[in-house]
Amino acid sequence: MRLRRAIGGAAVPMVDPFLLLDDFKSDDPADYAAGFPTHPHRGVETVTYMIEGAMEHRDSVGNRGRLGPGAAQWMTAGRGILHSEMPEQERGLMWGLQLWVNLPAAHKMVRPRYQDIAPAAIPEIAREKARVRLVAGTAWGAEGPVRGIDVGPTMLDVAIERGGTLDVAIGAEDSAFVYVLDGALRVGPDRREVRERELAVLGAGEVCRLACDATVGRAMVVAARAIGEPVARRGPFVMNTEEELGRAYEDHRTGRLVEGG
Ligand code: MN
Repeated sequence: MRLRRAIGGAAVPMVDPFLLLDDFKSDDPADYAAGFPTHPHRGVETVTYMIEGAMEHRDSVGNRGRLGPGAAQWMTAGRGILHSEMPEQERGLMWGLQLWVNLPAAHKMVRPRYQDIAPAAIPEIAREKARVRLVAGTAWGAEGPVRGIDVGPTMLDVAIERGGTLDVAIGAEDSAFVYVLDGALRVGPDRREVRERELAVLGAGEVCRLACDATVGRAMVVAARAIGEPVARRGPFVMNTEEELGRAYEDHRTGRLVEGG
């Protein structure tokens, strides 16, 4: 799967509690045909947000479903899960985001939990020259469908027309970022331009003004409380110490990662 890594690479290793943001977007089936075959996770939450195309997901807890355009999936891997996401199309555009959200030490080994969110379950808020899809959190009197997540996330898919502005309040204890999907936005008081596939980290406790003077500006705005704990991460596992990471690999090797193993 060909993708662009906006968080989790050398340039931006993490924006606590966000450990990874991948943007997979291609209309060449050779780029996406391989999908994401079965692989494990522990100690982290993985979020998939589909923009175009469709994937089928399956996991070791027995969940199975289809993620189509506008759908979201919030998976709390907890103590361990095996899952796959494979394309459900042979041609056309495949475009989605994958975000990893850390779990605090006290909840890294919880039972896996999985929230499958249909496009219609995501409130759409119309503002002047702007529309917002509210995946998680509360904003403009609406509440997103994602529930019971430790770090209290806010996740917005924002589209602003030329000449429009949108003020987004960032919580006082939140880490936050804007990732532009399409077009360009002017972000914050200095109206810095953030273009397609670029990331801007926002300050806690500010009202961030997003303005569009391009043809369109569409972006994900994501915020959550920072955890502030040590992070030990390797491959699909995110723990607090190297020892815990070693145990995760050992449990995976011996089939004890998932419940009943
Ligand atoms: Mn995964």
